[in-house]
Amino acid sequence: MTKILALSDQVVDRIYTLATDGHFRDVDLIFGCGDLPYTYLEYLVSILNVPLYYVPGNHNPVYNPYRSLSHAEGGLNLDLKTAFIQGLYLAGFGGCIRYRPDGVNQYTQRQAFFRAYNLIIRLLSSQIRYGRKLDVLITHSPPFGIHDEESLAHQGLRALNLLIRKAQPRYLLHGHTHFYRNNLEDAVTQTGRTTIMNIFPYKVIEINDGN
Ligand SMILES: [Zn+2]
Repeated sequence: MTKILALSDQVVDRIYTLATDGHFRDVDLIFGCGDLPYTYLEYLVSILNVPLYYVPGNHNPVYNPYRSLSHAEGGLNLDLKTAFIQGLYLAGFGGCIRYRPDGVNQYTQRQAFFRAYNLIIRLLSSQIRYGRKLDVLITHSPPFGIHDEESLAHQGLRALNLLIRKAQPRYLLHGHTHFYRNNLEDAVTQTGRTTIMNIFPYKVIEINDGN
């Protein structure tokens, strides 16, 4: 069983106290689902001393490994990448629907499909290497029609529905939609093999090794 602290979109002040008080001491991994200041994630990595995997959101700057504020030190930006850690096969898909012409980490539905095809190619080779199907897809955006909203800025990406169909991850963890969703029952949706969870603002999740 792997215990994960997943976070997205909003800094929760109480997290600092909980973390220093040892509340998350049995957490094995930290996942960032986007739109968080990287200093917040870096703080949690330094306190909990566990690996961090994250994707950028539309409020994060363009990723640049040489600029300190554009990535989380000590973490791995999983955008369009795969990883295998603590018995879990992970992949990431950052960003959301394009709603501003000059916005960063924003993609039209069509651009998102191209990104998804790139990721699917990587998933196929990783699946052979790791000998298993995808366990967790970490995204910023929700899929289209699931936990998303009518307004353009909060419309889900259809490319994620494609990834769910093709890769059948056991979990898809996302952020981005939170302004109108106070009903926690709406935060988890099962579709086929995949449990889709809205992480906003944070969740502790236990995932078995799936074997
Ligand atoms: Zn967002």
